[in-house]
Amino acid sequence: MIINEIFKSIQGETSYAGLPCAFIRVTGCNLRCSYCDTMYAYEEGNEMSLITILEIVAGFNTKIVCVTGGEPLSSKDTPLLIERLLDKYYTVLVETNGSYDIRTIPQKAVKIMDIKCPDSNMSHMMNWQNIKHLTKTDEVKFIIKSRRDYDWTKAVIQKYNLSEITNVLIGTAFGEISPRTVAQWILEDNLDVRFQLQLHKYIWEQETRGV
Ligand code: SF4
Repeated sequence: MIINEIFKSIQGETSYAGLPCAFIRVTGCNLRCSYCDTMYAYEEGNEMSLITILEIVAGFNTKIVCVTGGEPLSSKDTPLLIERLLDKYYTVLVETNGSYDIRTIPQKAVKIMDIKCPDSNMSHMMNWQNIKHLTKTDEVKFIIKSRRDYDWTKAVIQKYNLSEITNVLIGTAFGEISPRTVAQWILEDNLDVRFQLQLHKYIWEQETRGV
């Protein structure tokens, strides 16, 4: 499969934030979000066998592996890669943009699914059927750029009763809106969500790859 990069870092998001993690960034994405920070993963990458990927990951000696992108489900080989990682007893997180059918993700993996807000310009691409396939161990992530995004997020959480179904994360598009403002809105509305910042962006320089 075509891999953009494999690296070890601190998981910057989700309820696993702060933990050491091996990242496998799969090349390719079918979306073009307005705030995308991994445009280099749309096309850049090298062909790698599953054996090679597993060997590199083993060298990092982490308990957690995050399969990300780009969009990992844009490669038909990703479900098999996840199976192989699970066979090695890793905790496997799969970050997906919510446009592909998540039933292709092996059940024991943790699905971290984006729900794209209007100001990403990609909310029309969401596969809303996916919500039926989320569990209590999965997570959904909203990235907020504006008050409009926040109000839309609130309505979606309510419509699908999301906080009962799964773990709900709300973050901000880096540099686009004050995290404090969004945190205040969440508190005013008493939303049953986890507010998160992208930890890795505070640790390393913006241009740094592989963090
Ligand atoms: S889904 Fe992720 S990788 Fe794809 S365009 Fe959006 S932010 Fe970028």
